[in-house]
Amino acid sequence: METSERHPVTCRCAACARPDRPADTRPHVVIVGAGFGGLTAARALGGADVRVTLVDRRNHHLFQPLLYQVATAGLSPSQIATPVRMIVRKQTNTEVLLAEVTGIDTAARRVVMGDLRLPYDFLILSTGARSSYFGHEEWERAAPGLKTLEDATGHRARILLNLERAELEPDPEEQARLLTFVVIGGGPTGVEMAGAIAELTHRALSRDFRRIDPASARIVLVEGGPRLLSSFDEDLAGRAAASLARLGVEIVTGTPVGGIDAEGVRLGQTRIASRCVIWAAGVASTPAGAWVGCPTDRGGRALVEPDLSVPGRPEIFILGDCAHVPGEDGRPLPGLAPVAKQQGAHAAACILARIAGSAAPMPFRYRNFGTMATIGRKSAIADLGRIRLSGLAGWLLWSLLHIYFLIGFRNRVAVSIDWLWSYLTFERGARLITGPIEAPPGPPEAARARRPLRAAS
Ligand SMILES: Cc1cc2nc3c(=O)[nH]c(=O)nc-3n(C[C@H](O)[C@H](O)[C@H](O)COP(=O)(O)OP(=O)(O)OC[C@H]3O[C@@H](n4cnc5c(N)ncnc54)[C@H](O)[C@@H]3O)c2cc1C
Repeated sequence: METSERHPVTCRCAACARPDRPADTRPHVVIVGAGFGGLTAARALGGADVRVTLVDRRNHHLFQPLLYQVATAGLSPSQIATPVRMIVRKQTNTEVLLAEVTGIDTAARRVVMGDLRLPYDFLILSTGARSSYFGHEEWERAAPGLKTLEDATGHRARILLNLERAELEPDPEEQARLLTFVVIGGGPTGVEMAGAIAELTHRALSRDFRRIDPASARIVLVEGGPRLLSSFDEDLAGRAAASLARLGVEIVTGTPVGGIDAEGVRLGQTRIASRCVIWAAGVASTPAGAWVGCPTDRGGRALVEPDLSVPGRPEIFILGDCAHVPGEDGRPLPGLAPVAKQQGAHAAACILARIAGSAAPMPFRYRNFGTMATIGRKSAIADLGRIRLSGLAGWLLWSLLHIYFLIGFRNRVAVSIDWLWSYLTFERGARLITGPIEAPPGPPEAARARRPLRAAS
């Protein structure tokens, strides 16, 4: 690694070999992003004769599929996130850097991290996606997305604080607004969030308040398209919608959102008054493609070669949620963890083949083992090709697979115990509100208007 003036002591590149440390001449593979794609690539390169540097702006690998459980007080943040250093500590050829990448100098083969430069021989970019508001970035403030642990704990605080505020609120109209939760986006994340909020309010918290009845909370799931879970078979998606309705979730389809602010959501001519709107509708790529001058699609995903390398830059690979790779049907592969993981393994294999001078592996082919979505405590749908499951059978399979794919034995045991406990008791153990309680997110004037909390008479 180097700054504009000198290389710091952590650098082991041949250019800055020090007398007390032999130069490391092994090919240097830099991986940006320790998510599903980047981490899989790093692990695949673990025993190889290369030097690996894994760079991430977070110190943890995040198991995003269970973020909604943190957001709804089912699990604690540490149960779905594992320090990256801990994961690769046995890989002696791998170094971890906590830094934000801001660009790539492709001509000099350097990763740019502010004023630091990190040389590479091969580069893997797997920086994932971010929430997209379809050109209405102003909605983000009133309707945050769900991508990071901070997002999840922010949602958890908002949901729990709204209930606390409703308990103190004398005005019935404002109380109803505080007890209305709107989730935008009828894909798996929206369905999971809506189901989990319904279970939290209608079941887990139903006996904990004295002035309000959390079971009266209104949960509305809004989908602009004609039906929920458009990536699933129609029959399975219908079963998921029926499960949600049984949990008390109102489903609104075919109505795109017209506006979102601190007072609620506008849908066509209708307005839903709510103090808690959650965005689960759109994603766009992080700028990995733009960093290296790779053509991108409308969502910013890099249009990579069939082997995942960047056109004209065979030493750079882009994968996961920030790559546009056509599947067998010609449509881009979905943003799913198994896609990113298989691509991470493929990019690592391509790099090792190039170093060995052997024929490059075949173009990347995705092996689809199925898709799943959960709707609540004991209901999920699973589309495994010829086998389709729903209800309790789907949920059992969903639970087993998510525990299996979690990183770390401790997390697997802790999550299993928590799930068993909440299955038997409906309890949610992670109902903590941290941070300031006075100013909810939203425009400052709206926050001021709601402060201080008034005691109900
Ligand atoms: C709420 C939610 C639920 C999901 N549920 C499922 C599910 O049930 N099943 C499923 O298969 N998939 C699910 N997904 C999708 C799945 O998580 C993604 O497809 C997968 O994480 C993509 O892997 P990736 O490696 O491309 O990116 P990520 O796993 O997102 O990793 C990107 C990494 O890059 C790092 N990074 C980003 N920018 C920079 C930078 N500038 N500098 C340094 N580091 C950077 C990030 O910190 C992160 O660690 C879900 C996603 C979300 C958000």
